[in-house]
Amino acid sequence: MPHADLSQNRAVKMLNAAAEGKYGVLGVVSYNMETVIACIRAAEAKKAPLQILLFPWALKYSPLFVDFCAHAARKAKVPVTVHMDHAQDPEVIKQASQILAEDGTPAFDSIMVDMSHYEKEENLAKTKELVELCRSRGIATEAEPGRIEGGEDGVKDTAELEGMMTTPEEVDDFIATGIDFLAPAFGNVHGDYHGVENIHLDYERLASIHERSKGKVQVVLHGTNEFPPDIMAKCIERGVTRINVNKLVLSDYNDYVAEKTGKVPLTQLLEEGTAKIQKMAEDWMDSIGCSEKA
Ligand SMILES: [Zn+2]
Repeated sequence: MPHADLSQNRAVKMLNAAAEGKYGVLGVVSYNMETVIACIRAAEAKKAPLQILLFPWALKYSPLFVDFCAHAARKAKVPVTVHMDHAQDPEVIKQASQILAEDGTPAFDSIMVDMSHYEKEENLAKTKELVELCRSRGIATEAEPGRIEGGEDGVKDTAELEGMMTTPEEVDDFIATGIDFLAPAFGNVHGDYHGVENIHLDYERLASIHERSKGKVQVVLHGTNEFPPDIMAKCIERGVTRINVNKLVLSDYNDYVAEKTGKVPLTQLLEEGTAKIQKMAEDWMDSIGCSEKA
């Protein structure tokens, strides 16, 4: 079956432009409205493109939150997409791919088909089938060859499985499934590094993965908690486009909420919390070069 043409998919267009312009696009792990509101404000203030990342948890929590994100993305004054990250259940992927925004287009511009908890052959077979399904609906897809160790909220903890870095063969195998974005494992981990000194990335591997996938898929970066700007810059130099962030934009907010809940009015908690996320997002947009790129 020939692959559907996704050249006009908004997430594909956004990351192609980032690759062309050699900058990173912020992909923000979003659990609540404050995060989405803050990051869209940041994107509009900085004239930056943005990707909102939801976990399958969002579907379980409330489909209304997905509707809200899709609506917010469409109302933004800059390009904003909605991505489902680490979808590990084929049923969830099928369900997510069917959700439509109010304009009749898919609510998710892209979905990460994460079958990395299966053995390789089954992983590839399942990935291919789900990628075709998503593509037929105009949705871009992402996969993680090798394993990025650690666990994110609501995501199966793969730490007990052997950590594996992405090999050139895996890059080819996964590109052949029809994916659009590839999340390589090159020393990056989900969760915490417990200090910048513990971040050991195989930059040569990243560069060769990028070389191998050039013109076919865009490389995206997972596992950035505690990354300083210079490490981010080295990754972008070696072809990374979307950069998934969690604590890097949410840590001030998390601290603030932990400290102030019950001590200030809820409206103040929401407003000031939102402002904290916006500030960190704006700083990262400047840092990774996507400001003024919308
Ligand atoms: Zn991830």
